[in-house]
Amino acid sequence: MYEIDVNKNYDLVKKSGAKQKTVIRVGNVEIGGDGFTVMAGPCTVESLEQIVEIAKEAKKAGAHLLRGGAFKPCTFPYRFMGHGEDGLKMLAEARSQTGLPIVTEVMEPSDVDVVCKYADILQIGMRNMQNYRLLHAVSKTDKPVLLKRGSWAKLDEWLGAAEYIAAGGNEKIILCERGIVSFEDHTRWTLSLSVVPALKEITHLPIIVDPSHGTGRRNFIIAMAKAGAAAGADGLMIEVHPVPDKSFSDAVQTVGYEDFNRLMQELAPVVKAVGRNI
Ligand code: PEP
Ligand code: MN
Repeated sequence: MYEIDVNKNYDLVKKSGAKQKTVIRVGNVEIGGDGFTVMAGPCTVESLEQIVEIAKEAKKAGAHLLRGGAFKPCTFPYRFMGHGEDGLKMLAEARSQTGLPIVTEVMEPSDVDVVCKYADILQIGMRNMQNYRLLHAVSKTDKPVLLKRGSWAKLDEWLGAAEYIAAGGNEKIILCERGIVSFEDHTRWTLSLSVVPALKEITHLPIIVDPSHGTGRRNFIIAMAKAGAAAGADGLMIEVHPVPDKSFSDAVQTVGYEDFNRLMQELAPVVKAVGRNI
């Protein structure tokens, strides 16, 4: 007999008993532990030279992971959608030269295997937060999953999406607040930082903040990165490019090396003030 418990929603990702905190390890990097974790890199992997250079600069500035899209969801169909598997190979080369683990997006269930071949963390982009077939597909892998919040999604819906991954057998989930729809028009999206303490009450999963997509405004990134840390996030995701204005995608929200260095320097005392290490 098939029974459905209508009172069960996201029990696996909820805090309960001894399960108060999930710490995710990739290589030497921890997410959700005592440390604060910074993921940095371009919106899209553009070339091998570019990604290797960015990885080196990000590492020098203190980043712990390299981000970069090889499969890109774009609002308009005429934009650069990434180099696909070649982009993954470029990321892997940047990892081998710097030791930085890679986080990169997977858009389709049929791409999960190829992305798993190269990535250390699978990113589910905001547009796919409720793509249940994709959530199921990543739940069957052994890779941590960074689940971005849908810009329309309530906290319950976001945790429901996380529960799909956990229910499929993969509890290595990192939540990423990346901005929601609101009436504000001074930013592209509204970074909902109060979701960080709200999630900390409910879930044992680590939470990172993405002020790049969350504001869509380069000049706001440093302030909102520090605010994310102050709110109690476990880490940040930041878009960085050597010549931000020339980025193939998301140029207006991408910071250069100088700003990224300043961000890391100004972040350190904030992270310490809230009792974390960086
Ligand atoms: C990204 O990280 O480059 C991205 C496309 O993010 P989001 O899914 O949050 O828009
Ligand atoms: Mn982007």
